[in-house]
Amino acid sequence: MDSRAPYVVNPYAASRRPTREVRVGGVGIGGENPVRVQSMTTTNTLDTEATVDQAERLAAAGCEIVRITAPSIREAENLEPIKREMVRRGIHVPLVADIHYTPNAALVAAEHVEKVRINPGNYADKKKFEVREYTDSQYREELERVAERFRPLVRRCRELGRAMRIGTNHGSLADRIMNRFGDSPRGMVESALEFLDVCEDENYFDIVFSMKSSNAQVAIQAYRLLASRLSERGGLDRAYPFHLGVTEAGDGEDGRIKSAIGIGSLLLDGLGDTLRVSLTEDPVNEIPVAQVLARDFSVANGSNVRPVFEDSRTDFVADPYAHERRTTHSVGREGYEIGGANPVRVEVELGPIPHQVVTAAAEIAHSLAQFPELVCEGLLVDVVDPGASEFIQPFVTALAEQGVHAPLAVRAEVAFVPPCIDRADRLVVPIGSLVDDGELASVAELAARAGTRIEWSLRGCVEDIPQLLERAVAVIRSSKLEDFMLSVDADCTVQAARLAVTALRECGGADIPLVLRHRAAPEVEENRHLLDASVAFGALLCDGLGDAVAIANAETPGRALSLAYRVLQGARQRTSWTEYISCPSCGRTLFDLEETTARIKAQTEHLRGVKIAVMGCIVNGPGEMADADFGYVGSGPGVVDLYVGKELVERKVPQADSDERLIGLIRDRGRWTDP
Ligand code: SF4
Repeated sequence: MDSRAPYVVNPYAASRRPTREVRVGGVGIGGENPVRVQSMTTTNTLDTEATVDQAERLAAAGCEIVRITAPSIREAENLEPIKREMVRRGIHVPLVADIHYTPNAALVAAEHVEKVRINPGNYADKKKFEVREYTDSQYREELERVAERFRPLVRRCRELGRAMRIGTNHGSLADRIMNRFGDSPRGMVESALEFLDVCEDENYFDIVFSMKSSNAQVAIQAYRLLASRLSERGGLDRAYPFHLGVTEAGDGEDGRIKSAIGIGSLLLDGLGDTLRVSLTEDPVNEIPVAQVLARDFSVANGSNVRPVFEDSRTDFVADPYAHERRTTHSVGREGYEIGGANPVRVEVELGPIPHQVVTAAAEIAHSLAQFPELVCEGLLVDVVDPGASEFIQPFVTALAEQGVHAPLAVRAEVAFVPPCIDRADRLVVPIGSLVDDGELASVAELAARAGTRIEWSLRGCVEDIPQLLERAVAVIRSSKLEDFMLSVDADCTVQAARLAVTALRECGGADIPLVLRHRAAPEVEENRHLLDASVAFGALLCDGLGDAVAIANAETPGRALSLAYRVLQGARQRTSWTEYISCPSCGRTLFDLEETTARIKAQTEHLRGVKIAVMGCIVNGPGEMADADFGYVGSGPGVVDLYVGKELVERKVPQADSDERLIGLIRDRGRWTDP
């Protein structure tokens, strides 16, 4: 049992972490305020007109706080005319100055804007990727030096009533922290707390924290750990609000999926008071995504679900601050087994079993063939009346004739379970409060006789889950069935699945495989479906829960298949394509990031399992690309530096030659395949 203070009010009942309120000009963050949406300009900060134009477009789209980079004193000074012009145009969103490496610029910026963001990893600290042992006294000396450089900003912010974000990024931790704590969630948290000590020492409390990473798992662990550490330090007065984000998430669907996994998972934990979705696109595109997350995944202060367990234990996972896949045993047809050491499987839900089996099988095969790189590892059909069962056998045959050999699962309400189910690989049976135990026992006996596996799908409210599970287990024990799988079909899927896992352990079924199912609500548009599925699956997968994922109601079977694999890649469970880590760009960017990322993608997206970073500047790029295999980083006008891992291997490569040289490096390292 983890002895740390809990990071969450109750993991089984969505409830927002209570925080103090921090005012950023006229906008409150934390406390009783809604989760605020923010973004960052990508213009040159010295270009007042362009920066104000973009801030105006952001505000019009619903952005509540706008951040602007201030890489030197010149840009920090230009925040004053930017602010003046914004006021003249009647744009009243508060501004945040983004500071890296330049404490002097921070002091100037604090005069003009409502909030200053500093990165503890580079505010006044070293970042040279040096490996050395720090003695305690060396560590203390360096820390004192950093604190003395930081103190003037803290005092000035307190005097002016400015807020501050202490924003730690995975990969841009100071050498001192890296050498002591590693490039880890723990290092991120310790780094931020060192700066907090200085703030509290100066009686300054208008602080917001962030713990960003391009790896959603790392971000989730770091925010949780910070919440725990802060609650150990004191009550509500020390509960500072959180700014959420997954950094360098990239663009398009993958950028949205990664962001939704990290941000949505934390919001479901009740963590997060403001958020930014970082996309390598026009920043205005970030706002609708951020609004959906802020509105639909954040929870009200105070529990909105009656807690089943009154305490905040997190028994659903071995360690909420580290990723470890839940240990299960494997079940299923050879080659397609679910659970155990197998990868998280992908199943596609097809809806009611078709009657025109030949036509339907051809269409399904055609749709799946649009993604030849992906394996469909299961199909599921619904049998909604007893007569439909006669189509099971011909449908399996028709699929096989089209080359689709994935096992077919059949879902049926207990009243409609067909007598002849031996052609189904698995029978999925919903258990709700209206189903009686006698009916369940008959289904279990039927499945045992046919040699068909069973997946009990627990259907109800979160608080019903333990009792439904108990009944499912009792039926299995009294029947000849030896095994089963589990899924949940509840209002709050994430909390319900956590509860099911905890309850399973308590009734001796700790290693029963769990299938994660997601169904788009009717009329939900495609983009929204993508975010919903990312959060529903991602929150559980990042905690190591889930042995298979299945998507229903997608536009086509192929779309369900690719979306599921993309979410698995975003949650770092299965890699099917090249992963791109690209920064959203800002006033420091040295080339057109959108265009460059698209160009590099076009040449490399056929590679499997390679992570390529495209970063706008060398100030932050090398650090923040963290775990990329290859890096393409702007190092001056018209030139880039190329990295292999963290090692700089080619300097000042003219942009005209850069793609070829990058591909050459990928080739040299044995990671290239021809398209
Ligand atoms: S890496 Fe990109 S977003 Fe970060 S500071 Fe550099 S240009 Fe700006």
